[in-house]
Amino acid sequence: MTWDFSIEPDYAAKLDWARDFVRERIYPLEVLDLDHASFRKQAAPLQDEVKAHGLWAAHLGPELGGQGYGQLRLGLLHEILGRSELAPYVFGCQAPDSGNAELIAIAGTEDQRERWMKPLLDGRLLSAFSMTEQGTGSDPRQFTTRAELDGDEWVLNGRKWFVGNASRADFHIVMAVTEPDASPRERMSMLIVPAGTPGISTRELGLMNDPDHRNPVWSHCEVGYEDVRVPAENLLGGRGEAFVLAQKRLGPGRIHHCMRWIGVCRRAFDMLCERAVSVSVHGGPLAQKQTVQNWVADCAAAIESARLLTLHTAWKIDQVGAENARTEIAMIKYHGATVLHDVIDKAIQVHGSLGFSTDMPLEQMYRWARAARIYDGPDEVHRVTVARRLLAQYEPVDVPTEHIPTRRAAAEAAR
Ligand SMILES: Cc1cc2nc3c(=O)[nH]c(=O)nc-3n(C[C@H](O)[C@H](O)[C@H](O)COP(=O)(O)OP(=O)(O)OC[C@H]3O[C@@H](n4cnc5c(N)ncnc54)[C@H](O)[C@@H]3O)c2cc1C
Repeated sequence: MTWDFSIEPDYAAKLDWARDFVRERIYPLEVLDLDHASFRKQAAPLQDEVKAHGLWAAHLGPELGGQGYGQLRLGLLHEILGRSELAPYVFGCQAPDSGNAELIAIAGTEDQRERWMKPLLDGRLLSAFSMTEQGTGSDPRQFTTRAELDGDEWVLNGRKWFVGNASRADFHIVMAVTEPDASPRERMSMLIVPAGTPGISTRELGLMNDPDHRNPVWSHCEVGYEDVRVPAENLLGGRGEAFVLAQKRLGPGRIHHCMRWIGVCRRAFDMLCERAVSVSVHGGPLAQKQTVQNWVADCAAAIESARLLTLHTAWKIDQVGAENARTEIAMIKYHGATVLHDVIDKAIQVHGSLGFSTDMPLEQMYRWARAARIYDGPDEVHRVTVARRLLAQYEPVDVPTEHIPTRRAAAEAAR
């Protein structure tokens, strides 16, 4: 096995193009106060350029219209896209559509791929992943949304919570209990529900980073499903398979967030350093104050450690699959979220009141970063996963293995 940190020249050139494109063509859109419709209009010609450069939907294999770069190369691209919250949409790999397309690719029938996945990949449709129920998001075994088969239709009833883009999506993938008597992990199935189906109601939620729900890319909604009827063939995967499919979807999805956070961290770090060398107080530049130097050094080390853990996890997924990289995926999720928060926090601090104001993007980045410790499973749950999996590798002993007198006695007996 070799460890190689170099990037193939062809791919490095693509990354250089993406870096310039994001900075020169996407950053300007951030400050135009675009709503969802006008952002999509502005993004359309940019999406064509991305397609022409072979970087569209880079998370998917070539058989699905993507590039088949694998997770490691994708990680290098995502850390560039993460610098702007608008960039993943322009590159056709934004959540939740990227994960939903992968899900239909894994579990969908030929008809479902044709009708839902292909237009999703082309950027012609938007989708929502409707899973969480309020207060039980960490424990899906408690979900109660119900779907019952009535003739050749599923009838869906229940409430979902915090569903990304539910008010803008063309279809929802809904997790619902279809097998109430089965074991907790086999009670739920997934259904594809077209957004216009009678009985669906959505309430847009105000978020810490978007209290007036004006974000050009995402909305988040509480969704009611009341006697919503969809054809039996809208079942995605087999009956009772929702739990397993959700794990398959969320595993790679989580690491894509972590990859993008590196880009957010770097943008905040650039602002931190620029400010440190630009402003003088108490007789000298901030860059010469030891506290600020400590922040620069600690943030750089934290970003690099999160980056390496992210890319190593991506490499492991490429080698042995997401299922065998569960510990690493869970670890980078909470570690990356903490680094993200801390780096933005220090960048704000070095800017003083300017950093707290909306004249800088840092306060918005800070508010959005807070969500990273909650979505796709809160930190606590991922820590439990890591600790449980690591502790499972150890056996209880009467005497510690490293107990020096015991080892000395054994070594002397063996002489
Ligand atoms: C920005 C954002 C976007 C989202 N997008 C979507 C989406 O598109 N679709 C969707 O279905 N959902 C979405 N969610 C919901 C998300 O998946 C849930 O918020 C998450 O899984 C946690 O569930 P919960 O909010 O119900 O928290 P709860 O389950 O109520 O947990 C609350 C708190 O309890 C603690 N806790 C829970 N379990 C443990 C444990 N085992 N040990 C110790 N402490 C614990 C944690 O501190 C946790 O934060 C989104 C959430 C956010 C914030």
